[in-house]
Amino acid sequence: MSFSELVGQNEAKQRLGVPLVGEPGHAFLLVGPQGIGKKTLGREFAKGLLCSHPTENGGCGTCPNCIYMREHTHPDYKELLLPSGEKNIKVADVRSKILGDVGIMSQIASRKVYLIDADALAEEGQNALLKTLEEPPKHVVFILTVSDESKLLPTILSRTVSVRLLPNTEKEVVEVLKKNDPDILPEEAELFAHFSGGVIGSAMGLSQTDWLVNDYEEVTDFLLRLPEISKTELLTDVYSFFDEEKEHFQDVLMLMDMVLGEMAVLSLSPDSDRLHDKVKKDKMVNVIKRYKINPARIGKMSSVLTVASRAEKANGNYEMIVCRMLLALKKECTDG
Ligand SMILES: [Zn+2]
Repeated sequence: MSFSELVGQNEAKQRLGVPLVGEPGHAFLLVGPQGIGKKTLGREFAKGLLCSHPTENGGCGTCPNCIYMREHTHPDYKELLLPSGEKNIKVADVRSKILGDVGIMSQIASRKVYLIDADALAEEGQNALLKTLEEPPKHVVFILTVSDESKLLPTILSRTVSVRLLPNTEKEVVEVLKKNDPDILPEEAELFAHFSGGVIGSAMGLSQTDWLVNDYEEVTDFLLRLPEISKTELLTDVYSFFDEEKEHFQDVLMLMDMVLGEMAVLSLSPDSDRLHDKVKKDKMVNVIKRYKINPARIGKMSSVLTVASRAEKANGNYEMIVCRMLLALKKECTDG
């Protein structure tokens, strides 16, 4: 795997590609939210740094260095990560695994590379590392990863070259999810991508849970039945769903808005391939036709959701917000 096989992060890859073919410097800081792929990119960068024939696209993939890296057995590459169950990396570990090791010459490659999870370094650990970061041995490169830069000492920041990882596009997240699980349903991949905020780790986490898919099915069913649901049912059965999902209310609103988006597309072009599930698509097209639901009406329904979202964020009475929202949605959907 080289840089180019990692999805997205083009700017970060470009910036890391340059030092691979020149003089790399001694310390890099990969910055980005948790789950964005800092360690994955850090490992690829390390592979490029150790490779015998690197290019701007990373390691060659075939030299002994690259093969050792792929097999996680390279003697000149070390990681210092948060041990499970611990709050921080112990200072003793910084001393023994890094400070006591940097002076020893590399065995196979021309340099040694250390990947350190700086989020797990408390101030004491950072201080222990600082002196080596200030005057590193010639053959050593440090790659630090961090999601919260504000927790790092200014002196650490000033000794490292920062490279920022930005959120992926939804399309890129879908691509990764499909690569990871070729059997994933396209709708579900899109759903997880949409809710991941462009963070691949979050999308992977969501794909391991049921609530998002279940709630999506639930709100789709509810919105398609909306023209026929009686007010009593709205305020009892449908309300009880919202009551159970109180913790997820903002997510449920986002899901409803997604379904309304699908309806808007289908109301304009019933043949659109926006929905892959044919049964659901046919059902949606039928409801749209039967009740003459058009984009203008869907826009009004979407505004109802915005009002409810604001009211809930402002800590309004939950029951009142939901009941008002349900009645307003029914009104907009039937007599718009
Ligand atoms: Zn190589």
